[in-house]
Amino acid sequence: MRVMNIIHDSVVDGEGLRTVIFFAGCPHFCKGCHNPRSWNIHNGTEMPVEDVVAEVAGNPLTDVTFSGGEPFFQAQEVCEVAKRLKALGKNIWVYSGYTFEQLIASDDPCKRELLRYCDVLVDGPFLLAERDLTLSFRGSRNQRIIDLTTKRGMERSF
Ligand code: SF4
Repeated sequence: MRVMNIIHDSVVDGEGLRTVIFFAGCPHFCKGCHNPRSWNIHNGTEMPVEDVVAEVAGNPLTDVTFSGGEPFFQAQEVCEVAKRLKALGKNIWVYSGYTFEQLIASDDPCKRELLRYCDVLVDGPFLLAERDLTLSFRGSRNQRIIDLTTKRGMERSF
């Protein structure tokens, strides 16, 4: 899979102390994007699933956040990472430019499966007109912090 960067001990990418994986590739092209270099998947470094998992597992004090870029752009590979990190007991937040409704209606089963391994989804594109610097963990007012653990089982396709 293609990865832009992995950082440890973040307190701004979800609750608590988190290791953040910034995946490469994004199809949303939001105006005012915080990381436009991540749009091109070729700007990332190729990393095997095992190496990504080992990097996160090497920090036992942190939970994990999938960011980007668009984590669902490489849903099959990211799902494999999520599955293995969940088995290690990690709490997983995922950011996406897609909305929750778009993801659960997706034709791609890997996108829906990835949702199943995550605990929290921060959804929707960054909208410059909705930007709000006072918000926690998100950049614009349209983005929602969704507890997937309470949604699970209530949605037929998720
Ligand atoms: S979804 Fe995120 S990474 Fe992609 S363009 Fe929008 S702000 Fe940038």
